[in-house]
Amino acid sequence: MTNNLSTDNLTFECETGNYHTFCPISCVAWLYQKIEDSFFLVIGTKTCGYFLQNALGVMIFAEPRYAMAELEEGDISAQLNDYKELKRLCLEIKQDRNPSVIVWIGTCTTEIIKMDLEGMAPRLETEIGIPIVVARANGLDYAFTQGEDTVLAAMVHRCPTETLTENTKKHPSLVLFGSLPNTVANQLNMELKRHNIEVSGWLPSHRYLDLPHLGENVYVCGINPFLSRTATTLMRRKKCKLICAPFPIGPDGTRAWIEKISSVFGIIPQGLEEREQAIWESLEDYLQLVRGKSVFFMGDNLLEISLARFLISCGMIVYEIGIPYMDKRFQAAELALLETTCKKMNVPLPRIVEKPDNYHQIQRIRELQPDLAITGMAHANPLEARGINTKWSVEFTFAQIHGFTNARDILELITRPLRRNQALGTLGWSQLIKTDN
Ligand code: SF4
Repeated sequence: MTNNLSTDNLTFECETGNYHTFCPISCVAWLYQKIEDSFFLVIGTKTCGYFLQNALGVMIFAEPRYAMAELEEGDISAQLNDYKELKRLCLEIKQDRNPSVIVWIGTCTTEIIKMDLEGMAPRLETEIGIPIVVARANGLDYAFTQGEDTVLAAMVHRCPTETLTENTKKHPSLVLFGSLPNTVANQLNMELKRHNIEVSGWLPSHRYLDLPHLGENVYVCGINPFLSRTATTLMRRKKCKLICAPFPIGPDGTRAWIEKISSVFGIIPQGLEEREQAIWESLEDYLQLVRGKSVFFMGDNLLEISLARFLISCGMIVYEIGIPYMDKRFQAAELALLETTCKKMNVPLPRIVEKPDNYHQIQRIRELQPDLAITGMAHANPLEARGINTKWSVEFTFAQIHGFTNARDILELITRPLRRNQALGTLGWSQLIKTDN
């Protein structure tokens, strides 16, 4: 069944939610690397363990700071004492790694058996003397990157409150939220600094002990589109002021992001237009490859709207933007920029399909024959065999795509299948399935 909902010109549809995506517990993969003094404990079953082990590839051999607390039959039938078991494990973690924080990741099973993680954590925390943050990043409620959102929302409560002593600053405090590799976070700090905007902190910081100060006078701004719960928690619990801007993905998004933050602080950015222009010029070799090509987002990581908007700016035509979950309020500025970009580039507005149905999407891909489908690994090879170029969507989550300088990396990813298939085109093997299929 499909629901149609129209706001202004963009059309939003909602399908069955029958789609492939990573489980949100995968967020431990990048969060443990980002927060250097943390330890992540995923409390779940073998299913979760298998997923982590396979999805995170070679990382598991690098003694990562995450582990599974694997529930046994005795835990599920309440014959064992959950509290004692978790205490034993956390003490072991304390002894081996001595982290500054242990993050418990709740899973589908802990939800279904109603394990009271939030109730146990404070007690255990005082007993063992290490903060325990609880995030319910389960596959029942969330998709992939939303796992990070649940962890950051839980961490908001642990941020110290801002003390009001600093009248010397040029503008009120600005805290950015979203996990980025340190190099990219520094690049964004520098971009803002060019316009005299100081970033006073990041959520998450690279050490748990350096979490940013939050409070009524602090402005916060997101750098990723999947952080809507964190945004809500920052506003409701810490009374922060949210700057609703497009996300700094692509030169157009980065410029709009800086412009919006500047306007909130009453600063007129200098030389921003020229900076954006220079980046576009440096991308020309890639732009020639993508101009006029069509793309179809099956949708699995919530970055889709921002990426589609950037690709439209590059001259591509987007047929469909599939997306697991669409928070129209948090993404309002991004959606507005998508609309203006379509008008500017004179291309039709793409259909936005929330909770897509992969089966139906495949039918649509067959009909539309896009030049590129951005999709998960489950469909990538089968589509390639049918002559459709594909790009594996998960790479966008792990690649560096934020800010002016990383726009090149996005296009490098997008054009890779196009370049490869161009090179192989002469072999005449674009369709590798039986023709009656
Ligand atoms: S969907 Fe649920 S059961 Fe599956 S890996 Fe994720 S948390 Fe575990």
